[in-house]
Amino acid sequence: MKAVYIIAALFCFTVGAFAQQPKTIKGHENNPYYSNTDTKHLNVSNAEWKKILPPALYATAREQETERAFTGKYWNKDTKGTYYCAVCGNKLFRSDAKFASDCGWPSFYEPVRKNSVIYKEDNSYGMQRTEVICARCDSHLGHIFDDGPPPTHKRFCMNSVSLDFVPEGFGL
Ligand SMILES: [Zn+2]
Repeated sequence: MKAVYIIAALFCFTVGAFAQQPKTIKGHENNPYYSNTDTKHLNVSNAEWKKILPPALYATAREQETERAFTGKYWNKDTKGTYYCAVCGNKLFRSDAKFASDCGWPSFYEPVRKNSVIYKEDNSYGMQRTEVICARCDSHLGHIFDDGPPPTHKRFCMNSVSLDFVPEGFGL
């Protein structure tokens, strides 16, 4: 009888230990740099990223390509949750700061933390724009414009492919 209790106790302990493990967004098992909790800056070459990332994500995140408007998976998503960098797992935006924009790309008025993203001048295609990049992995996310809603009046115009969405309650 005692053995049964010991086994039951061990079982509960094991299940409990697993339940307390932080969850990670699935689909990044072949990416050793991916973490939803680590915020330490990464220095990974494009040659290395090219071996790891799916081609569409590599093209946007590392070669500044822009996905076509109204084609991404998140431009009209209004579910509550959090958006993470699809390259490295860095937490970037909350759905609370997402707003319905008719531009065809997911749009936010602020990042989750001021230092989640960094800004870079972008003069490509004869335009003066400010590029938004992930502060952890330096991947291209999109651009920022001054035509957003209050309270910031900013519009973080992002590529869906550069983001991972996690619904509220997932436990991250
Ligand atoms: Zn990143």
